[in-house]
Amino acid sequence: MLTDLSWDAFVLPAEALRWRTDIERASDLPVRLLQDDEMTGAEGEAWSEPGLRAVVLAEAAPSPANAMTIVHELGHLKLETEGWPHCYLCHDDPRWIEWHYALISDLVSLVEHQAFFPTMLRIGLDPYAASEADLADPDVLDELRNLAPSLPLPGLKPDWAITMQLLRTLLECRPAIAEAILRDAAQLGPEVRMARDLAAIILAAPLTPQGFADAMRACWQAMGFAPETLCVGEEEETSEVAVLSTGLDSLAAE
Ligand SMILES: [Zn+2]
Repeated sequence: MLTDLSWDAFVLPAEALRWRTDIERASDLPVRLLQDDEMTGAEGEAWSEPGLRAVVLAEAAPSPANAMTIVHELGHLKLETEGWPHCYLCHDDPRWIEWHYALISDLVSLVEHQAFFPTMLRIGLDPYAASEADLADPDVLDELRNLAPSLPLPGLKPDWAITMQLLRTLLECRPAIAEAILRDAAQLGPEVRMARDLAAIILAAPLTPQGFADAMRACWQAMGFAPETLCVGEEEETSEVAVLSTGLDSLAAE
């Protein structure tokens, strides 16, 4: 069930309040603050659909952690107002759509974080700490390996769930921690190589709408998927796929 929350319950940095104003001005919609008591695995999501802009929290508590989640999700919505395009899967094979969609959504999330995590850090919020705490957990590689059997297309290499977590390690942990984690993951050779390739593409990308679009296409190509299966910046057919929620955010418990 969705419940409207009051913005006044949360103490937010001035920069985040400006982001909210910018989103409202660009979309001509109020940004709603909602709680979804059925959200599992994530602390927050950013929703952008026709007629709706919302930051959605799993819990309503006016805690610093939730304030940070709000700023994070506003960061995703803010990029849309700056012309960062939606990316989605142009493919209707039912065997593919779910996990390919999650893959695109994870990639979008990681590239977008490059654009607003530095600002969060500058205003006193450390979005990298959550990633480091998650990924530096000694059990993390076992957890990653346990993800492998859930993939619906057996035999594909590298394992994308693992690759995306290693990519997140490279992008959202300090270099010393990232390298320690990747050293522990050395036996996951194809995943480590792919994660490094994708990280190089993303880190070299200009933080602009075009740079983002180009990086998404380059990553998709490096992953070996047909270019026409990734749509960038065109109108999506249903509002459902416009939701900017991310699987990695779920794993990150951001
Ligand atoms: Zn995010």
